[in-house]
Amino acid sequence: EQGYDLVAAFIGSEGTLGIITKILVRIMPLPEATRTLLAVFNTIEQASRTVSGVIGAGVIPAAIEMIDGTTIRAVEAAYNIGLPLDADAVLLIEVDGPKAGIDELQQMLADFCQEYGAREVRIAKNEQERADLWKARKTALGALGRLAPNYYIQDGVVPRSKLPYVLQQQDAIAKKYNVTIANVLHAGDGNLHPNILFDAREEGALERVKQAGGEILKLCVDVGGTISGEHGVGLEKLDYMPLLFQQADLDAQAKLRDAIAPTRILNPCKMLPQGSKCGEAAKSKLPQAIAGNVDVWI
Ligand SMILES: Cc1cc2nc3c(=O)[nH]c(=O)nc-3n(C[C@H](O)[C@H](O)[C@H](O)COP(=O)(O)OP(=O)(O)OC[C@H]3O[C@@H](n4cnc5c(N)ncnc54)[C@H](O)[C@@H]3O)c2cc1C
Repeated sequence: EQGYDLVAAFIGSEGTLGIITKILVRIMPLPEATRTLLAVFNTIEQASRTVSGVIGAGVIPAAIEMIDGTTIRAVEAAYNIGLPLDADAVLLIEVDGPKAGIDELQQMLADFCQEYGAREVRIAKNEQERADLWKARKTALGALGRLAPNYYIQDGVVPRSKLPYVLQQQDAIAKKYNVTIANVLHAGDGNLHPNILFDAREEGALERVKQAGGEILKLCVDVGGTISGEHGVGLEKLDYMPLLFQQADLDAQAKLRDAIAPTRILNPCKMLPQGSKCGEAAKSKLPQAIAGNVDVWI
């Protein structure tokens, strides 16, 4: 259609342009068949190369999720799922589509994983086994409570081909700030969720965690990625918008907001760092918000 893509603008605006009161959605039929497999790797590099390899081969799975060794050990301690404690990464891959050809696709993915160094590939033979394989991923965030009382989840995105490099660099950032990072990734989308573990009672810990988080986001932008995959900018990432956008881009976004919502009362102070000083004031509340001491919408 002709004209501005206002649907995309509204979706990306985090509520700053207007309140959506009605949404028409296209209902997609459920896929005829689904196949799920879990591959265990000795190194996170092998796992991330597998992700690039799968996508590079033109296969677009419904999901490729990755959890790293730190997360595997937390999940095992909490739920005893049966993952090897010395593994450094697990990939959970799901494909769906018409029944015809789906088993061949599953086998191809299993072969792929092995070719890229998987030491073990588990294939779900029924719905129960599928749920069992997903359990490792679905319980991951809760299990991190075994490792530290607090975690700060980041949400960068990188081109999938850059995953091996970015995860390596992220290790260096963790060392620099003396923090532990437990990775849970929507790897198929290049969406990183590094969970930076810390104890908020320790003086200076939150500051180090935030600095590490900021460096990870800068790394994502440096390799051609972005600062948020699904959590949004809100207040928390106001400071990082200039990493991604030049002043002229930010001004254009502010102009769009002011054309549609000139009073700026809709989700005020979010997303755009400039032109709204209250954003600068509100974000100073972030540490208290993370500690749960103040009711601020991030
Ligand atoms: C721990 C964690 C895990 C997550 N995992 C995933 C995941 O696996 N996959 C995924 O896709 N996402 C994930 N997310 C992101 C989550 O889906 C998004 O944060 C989502 O926006 C939450 O929706 P909500 O309705 O709860 O949020 P809300 O805070 O209600 O809304 C989100 C944004 O939409 C705006 N908004 C709300 N209602 C309206 C309206 N009527 N009109 C216009 N704007 C409106 C708000 O202003 C706000 O900016 C995760 C988030 C967290 C914190």
